[in-house]
Amino acid sequence: MRRAVCPGSFDPIHNGHVEIIARASNLFDEVIVAVSTNYAKKYRFEPDERLEMVRETIGGLRGVSVEPMGDGLLADFCKLHGADAIVKGLRSTVDYQYETPMAVMNRHLTGVETVFLAADNRYMHLSSSLLKEVQSLGGDVADYLPRTVLKRLRSNTP
Ligand code: ADP
Repeated sequence: MRRAVCPGSFDPIHNGHVEIIARASNLFDEVIVAVSTNYAKKYRFEPDERLEMVRETIGGLRGVSVEPMGDGLLADFCKLHGADAIVKGLRSTVDYQYETPMAVMNRHLTGVETVFLAADNRYMHLSSSLLKEVQSLGGDVADYLPRTVLKRLRSNTP
């Protein structure tokens, strides 16, 4: 039984995330989507709502579950849940530079491996922050967000 963790803050989840989670679920028997909260960061959505949006969006995917990550180390979360791997999407060399030290450190901490999946061409330019910014200025981001997320974003526009 191979189990992987897809971590992120998902503020909010978008189609780039969904695509990576779906591909991870083809590679592993079980995937846990771990919704993280860094208390030094300011989020648009509360932890419970981010969790709910992820559940609404990927609830139908076979073998995929959603859990809050808590405030500990990702490596410890993986160990606690018996996960062999962390799956991350890579959009660019910037992501690569940011992610590789964490991947090496996580492997050092508990032996958990990180698997990088190249972002799909359609979503390479997407980030939650870009989508929030464009949407708040009146841009149409419907192609990039699950329908329920778009609805919540519209009713939560600052
Ligand atoms: P953070 O962990 O910095 O809060 P996010 O919640 O936005 O990041 O994203 C979680 C993970 O999803 C990232 O580490 C990355 O692996 C992946 N990801 C984000 N955006 C994309 C995208 N457009 N295409 C593929 N993967 C992505």
